[in-house]
Amino acid sequence: MSWTNYHTHSYFCDGKFAPEEHVKEAVKQGLYAYGVSTHSPVPFDSSWNMKMEEVPRYVKEVRQAAEAYKNDIQVYLGMEVDYIPNIVGCSSDFIQKAELDYTVGSIHYVDQFPNGKPWEIDGPHQLFLDGLSTIFHNDIRAAVERYYELTRHMIQYDCPDVIGHLDKIKMQNEDGNLFSEDEGWYRDAVEETLEVIAQSSAIVEVNTRGLYKKATDTPYPSPWILEKILEKNIPICLNADSHIPTEITKGFSEAAHILKEIGFNQLHILYNGEWQGVDFDTKGLKMLNH
Ligand SMILES: [Zn+2]
Ligand SMILES: [Zn+2]
Repeated sequence: MSWTNYHTHSYFCDGKFAPEEHVKEAVKQGLYAYGVSTHSPVPFDSSWNMKMEEVPRYVKEVRQAAEAYKNDIQVYLGMEVDYIPNIVGCSSDFIQKAELDYTVGSIHYVDQFPNGKPWEIDGPHQLFLDGLSTIFHNDIRAAVERYYELTRHMIQYDCPDVIGHLDKIKMQNEDGNLFSEDEGWYRDAVEETLEVIAQSSAIVEVNTRGLYKKATDTPYPSPWILEKILEKNIPICLNADSHIPTEITKGFSEAAHILKEIGFNQLHILYNGEWQGVDFDTKGLKMLNH
């Protein structure tokens, strides 16, 4: 038994190694499908987003790897697309032109510093504190509510196939010293966002990167959010957000255990060109015909 993973990075952004090196490891581990989701370009300086001029080479390399390993694994071309209102999103021209197989939509940037520089909410903690102080006058509630508001806007106006690391902002709250996930306002922000997701066709990813990088004690999203996702019948997929080949299924058994405890029976996978639900346990997907 094995897995799938559609949230992966390579040397086109802040990952390591060529897409092909990751695909080789995926074949070695017997994955049924593997998606490459390099960080989309953005129209400002960024150390971890792909450069716009690299997009054609990226598309070519991933398609070539897909062809080369087609007898062993299904390889899909995606991107992790930033959503920044009026600046970039899944409907941006260059995304459309790339003819991707799927998109992961993520909020990494929340508003801007007075000098116009977008504020990265999942960068170094000090950068987070700087933006919190400069843009939000140290009002953590306002900052977190804005993060979820942008998530809702992305889903309503520029919906991706997969919603990346839904509650990633919690990584900055390591000791719970900024806010508590039990606070009413936080629960309301999440609930309102889930209502919007339930009205869409988007899949929520369960992302294990925080777990295996020890940045968080729980996957993105937290188990109490996953309970609500199950209640609302929102489809989920399991992704590693891997940056090196050895990470491509890291944390999956642990996350699958949490999901089974909550009561999930299916994960959504992109297979034979279509998103579909498949049964799973802590060892992998229960694929028929495999
Ligand atoms: Zn991300
Ligand atoms: Zn990522």
